[in-house]
Formats: sequence, structure tokens, C-alpha cells
Amino acid sequence: MVVHIIGAGLAGSEAAYFLANRGIKVKLYDIKPEKFTEGHKSPNFGELLCSNSLRGDSLTNAVGLLKAEMRLLNSLVMRCAEKTKIPAGGALAVDRHKFEQCITESLNSKKNIEVICKEVENPDELEGIKIIAAGPLATKPLTEWIMKKTGSQNLFFFDAIAPIVDGETIDYTKAFFASRYGKGEGGDYLNCPMKKEEYLKFWKELINAETVKLRDFEKDKKLFEGCLPVEEIAKRGEDALRFGPLKPVGLKHPETNEEFYAVVQLRREDSNGRFYNIVGFQTHLTYPEQKRVFSLIPGLENARFERFGRMHRNTYINSPEILDRFFRMKKDKTIFFAGQISGVEGYVESAASGLMVGFFVWNILQGKEPIPFPEETALNGLSQHISTFSHNFQPTNITYSLIPDLKVKIRNKKERRLKIAERSLESLKVFAMNFDF
Ligand SMILES: Cc1cc2nc3c(=O)[nH]c(=O)nc-3n(C[C@H](O)[C@H](O)[C@H](O)COP(=O)(O)OP(=O)(O)OC[C@H]3O[C@@H](n4cnc5c(N)ncnc54)[C@H](O)[C@@H]3O)c2cc1C
Repeated sequence: MVVHIIGAGLAGSEAAYFLANRGIKVKLYDIKPEKFTEGHKSPNFGELLCSNSLRGDSLTNAVGLLKAEMRLLNSLVMRCAEKTKIPAGGALAVDRHKFEQCITESLNSKKNIEVICKEVENPDELEGIKIIAAGPLATKPLTEWIMKKTGSQNLFFFDAIAPIVDGETIDYTKAFFASRYGKGEGGDYLNCPMKKEEYLKFWKELINAETVKLRDFEKDKKLFEGCLPVEEIAKRGEDALRFGPLKPVGLKHPETNEEFYAVVQLRREDSNGRFYNIVGFQTHLTYPEQKRVFSLIPGLENARFERFGRMHRNTYINSPEILDRFFRMKKDKTIFFAGQISGVEGYVESAASGLMVGFFVWNILQGKEPIPFPEETALNGLSQHISTFSHNFQPTNITYSLIPDLKVKIRNKKERRLKIAERSLESLKVFAMNFDF
């Protein structure tokens, strides 16, 4: 029996790796490296489309717990992330080239995986179990097939990606290294501080800057709250940025102890610190406007932009209508969806769903019904999200609200979360042992 996996992104790679390790033959299809979607650029698999951060690593953060769970299950994405991580305070950030190389080499080294460079247009032509993991930028013919197959209207919303600047062109007499509240080593973030008048000038220019014209089909689509363009946040009020990505709290100048009215943070893109992305600056601004307005940030006056921020399509299905809790189509049990397209949001969540789907498919190939992950886990929280009815279904990042609360009341939020995490990891350890992860 061969399992067909369409898309070798974060979800498809995890599913393929898991199944191959269990002795299952996999055909892994991707249009790369011969063709690319409008957002992908790297010839490698497991490409990180925008930020190089896999977000917070602490267990007080739900994505930290999700990552801890994935590590217990020998996740490929977690293994490569550990191998290629770079300093980023309390977050797990990676050198994207090394990370993608690690994923690609791991897949290519598996004799049970046949990598096929092909755009899959009609999965019905493939016999047996299919996992659709073609991501938020799935190509048009496949998207049309999904629309036909699911019988529902395809849903779109839009993300915008943050610009990257060349580290050598930053003015280090103004920008300084420091992590918020001194977390992490030697200051993993580069900070561009603003005085009140500098901030107000920047804010006014930003809210009045020219944005890219939306095409007809892009109008009236919902923006995802977690990835709002910086100018959209700015338009919510004079101080909105100071409570968002330009939050100055916990960031003092390491030499003068000076505090600031607002701070723009830059995060390393690579281990050598050659490039930096401007944290939270995903944007719809035109390229010349990005150059003009972002050059008002102290320290970036002469910055060279290695990549400008951009706007992108983001496709996902109305999963609660279409999928069961095992990410399997209710109407056709040979079809599974995994990754962003299945209604989870984020790199880590996409990879986690791929890992789960790999396990569920393996269960079926053992002649069993899929076995759910323990109820206390973040993994289970995601499968509940994609299969629970909602009037306005939207992809979600993992949050503690998706994990059952403790039976006892603990008032302190941090303590409560740590207890929930402990409970989850304990039950998952037993599960992992029982199923030989
Ligand atoms: C522009 C953009 C920026 C994002 N930035 C972030 C971010 O900074 N942080 C974050 O956590 N999340 C981000 N996301 C959300 C999400 O986490 C990522 O999209 C993530 O890569 C999703 O993983 P995936 O495995 O579902 O899809 P992908 O990683 O996109 O993988 C899908 C793969 O399928 C292939 N493919 C597509 N169509 C076909 C076809 N017909 N046949 C064969 N192969 C096909 C593609 O080439 C690709 O390799 C972003 C999304 C977008 C669109």
C-alpha cells in the first residue's frame, strides 16, 4: 500500500517522515523545484514562508507546549529546528537555509519515500490514501478540485510578510542589542528606539502611505488577527503600535539605561547576523513606500532591503463541515487534509497536524480506526478545533483555551499553565510509549 502526500511543506514532510519510519511506502509530490507557488522560493522542502521563528519555547506559552509534545513524538521539524537554531531570546528561531536543508536531506535519505516533482491537479487519479498538504498557496487546479470535492465555497484570507534588511547597512550607533527584560543571551534582538516625536512622524507617514491595490477577488476578505499588516494596526489609533509590535516595555539601552517611547525590534535571519527581519512588520505597502517609511526608523535610515514585505493569498477549507477529528474527509475516508489548509495556523501547528495525520493513517493501515491523542494535549486541542462547528470558522494558532482546564483552581496564570503542561506531557509520554514513538 502506498500513501500519496501532496505537498512537502511542514505538514507533508512530517507525515511522510513518520509513515516512512513505520515502514509505509510514501509518494511525496511537490511542484518544487521546477515550479513554485507565488510565495515559495526555495528549492528545498519544509520552506519557511516568512518569519524564521517557530515562536515561544516556554511551557507557559501554548506553542511551547505543542513543541514539547512534538519532541516527545520524534517530530522531524523539531529535530531539524534544534539542529539549526539560532539565538532568539525565549523563542525558537532557526537558520532557515540550514533548517530546510535538514528537512530535505532527511526525506531524501528515506528509502520508503519516493519524491516526485509534479503539480498534482486531480488527486482522484491517485489510488489509495491521499494526504492533501499543499498549504495556503495550493495551486489553482488543486484548489478547484478541493472546491469540487468539498462542495463548499473556498475561503480566502490574506497574510502579509515582513521585510528583511541587510545587517551591514544598519546604523549601530542608534540600534542596540537587547532582549525584552534581559531574557536570552547577550541580547538576541536588535532594537531601534524611538523618541516621541520620531514615533509620531513615523506613525503619520505609515497610516498615509500608499498600499498595493487589491485585485477584485481579494477585496472584502478577512485579515487574520494574528498576522495583521503593520499599517492596519497603526490605523487603529495613535498608540496601537506602542501596545503591539513597537512595545517599549522591558527594553532599556544596555549602556545608558535609557527607556524609550517606542521600539522597533529586528530579529536575526541567519546564524551570522547578516540579515534581520523587522518583527511584526508584515505589510501591504508598495515597495517604494516601504523604503521611504521604514527608513524613518532610527538606525534604518540607510538600510538596504534584502526583501520587501508582501501580501499573500491564504487558502483553507471549512474543516468542521468537511473533516472529522482525524483530519479525514467525512464523505471520502481515503482523503486527509493536513497543515494550514486544514484550518490550523502557523508553522508549528501545520507540522503538528502532519504528524498527527501520519499517525492516524498508520492506524488505518494497521486495520484499526484512528486512535485520538490524549484529551489533555495541545495536539488534541488542534484536532478538536478543526472538527468543531463554528459559525465563522477560522484557522487558529494553538492556545491554552483549546486545552481542557485543570479540575482544581489555580489563580496564578503561569502556575496553572505549567500544571496543564505537566499533565499533558505525562499523558503523552505514556501514549508515546504505548505506540512506540
Ligand atoms: C505568505 C505567508 C507567510 C506566512 N508566514 C508565517 C510565519 O511567519 N509564521 C508562521 O508560523 N506561519 C506563517 N504562515 C502560515 C503557515 O504556517 C505557513 O504557510 C506554513 O508553511 C504552512 O505549512 P503547510 O505544510 O500547510 O504548507 P506549505 O509549507 O506551504 O507547503 C505546501 C507545499 O505544497 C506544495 N504545493 C502546492 N500546491 C501543490 C500541488 N498542486 N501539487 C504539488 N505540490 C503543491 C508547495 O510547493 C509547498 O512546498 C504564512 C503563510 C503565508 C501564506
